[in-house]
Amino acid sequence: MDEVKKRDIRQLSLEDLEQFFLSQGEKKFRAKQVYEWLWHKSLKNFDDMSNISLATRELLKEHFEINHIRVDLMQHSTDGTIKNAVKLYDDKIVESVLIPTSKRITACVSSQVGCSLDCNFCATARLKRMRNLNPDEIYDQVVAIKNEAETYFNRPLTNIVFMGMGEPLLNYANVLAAIEKITSPEGLGMAPRRITLSTVGVAKMIKKLADDEVRFNLAVSLHSAINETRSRLMPINDSNPIEDLAEALKYWYQKTKRKVTYEYVIWDGVNDDELHARALAKFCKVIPSKVNIIQYNPIDEGEFRQAKQEAVDMYVRVLEGQGIIAKVRKSRGQDIDAACGQLANKNEVAKI
Ligand code: SAH
Repeated sequence: MDEVKKRDIRQLSLEDLEQFFLSQGEKKFRAKQVYEWLWHKSLKNFDDMSNISLATRELLKEHFEINHIRVDLMQHSTDGTIKNAVKLYDDKIVESVLIPTSKRITACVSSQVGCSLDCNFCATARLKRMRNLNPDEIYDQVVAIKNEAETYFNRPLTNIVFMGMGEPLLNYANVLAAIEKITSPEGLGMAPRRITLSTVGVAKMIKKLADDEVRFNLAVSLHSAINETRSRLMPINDSNPIEDLAEALKYWYQKTKRKVTYEYVIWDGVNDDELHARALAKFCKVIPSKVNIIQYNPIDEGEFRQAKQEAVDMYVRVLEGQGIIAKVRKSRGQDIDAACGQLANKNEVAKI
């Protein structure tokens, strides 16, 4: 007999689950109990739901399954960073990273398998986009890192950044649903201000975030405030030029009153001159903002090289001279390909 494909139970909202129980002649409050096991306690099978009767557990098993992620490979960097290669129910793989510092433990999570954008300095772009992650697949990555923080560092997870594989604003509904679970008491109960969503800068979707009155932080991967250069680095800039981005960010600030962080890599001979630094400083005046200058993580022998230290110093001088906060970030986890832009399932690709 062909087995009917069971639904992933965590695709159901609490209300859906309540409806299910009512339709089966069961009490509505069961839904809340099951929901708590599924999310807050992250249970992987129905049999462990100790306050649910055997008959009800059988009923659940008949209709649903729990599509849990599996950490397939864990790699430890010499600087403490951990990279998880995470296997999904359909055997696709994404990566997430635990980044420890003296004050924080940050989980960097993926939102898509691969990525549809063609930023030509980023290794994930070469995978192309295979599919969006479901809310539970994003949530599970956070839980895996939270557990690793407790096991390996004896410290709690403090921050979450959507800076892994994929473009979170092109998987909008699922990313927001995951954040809802991460922040709600039925899930992990984390404060929204500890979460940062990073985007390539899809103007329309930044406005949507503002309309939805989200309470987490926004980061934009800028890399150049000059259209010509930015389009060369990130083809999405052709349809989302700097002017549209500025307008969307004004709208964001007007509605949320939250400042934005710009991520910025300085490359040798690409954007390492004063013209680009001044354009960035000007763009930083559009709304209150700060700049994270991130080190380039080479992804091959390719055309891009990290700019010289003098160029980085020049940027900091120009920005600070205009009262803009600029932090130079050191790369983490480079030895295990866990740094920004290096997530590309290399171990998996090597196996093939
Ligand atoms: N798509 C989203 C989320 C990915 S975040 C976004 O673009 O913001 C990954 C960050 O690493 C982005 O800021 C990206 O521009 C940056 N990045 C990509 N490749 C990189 C590389 N080789 N070295 C350093 N940073 C890189």
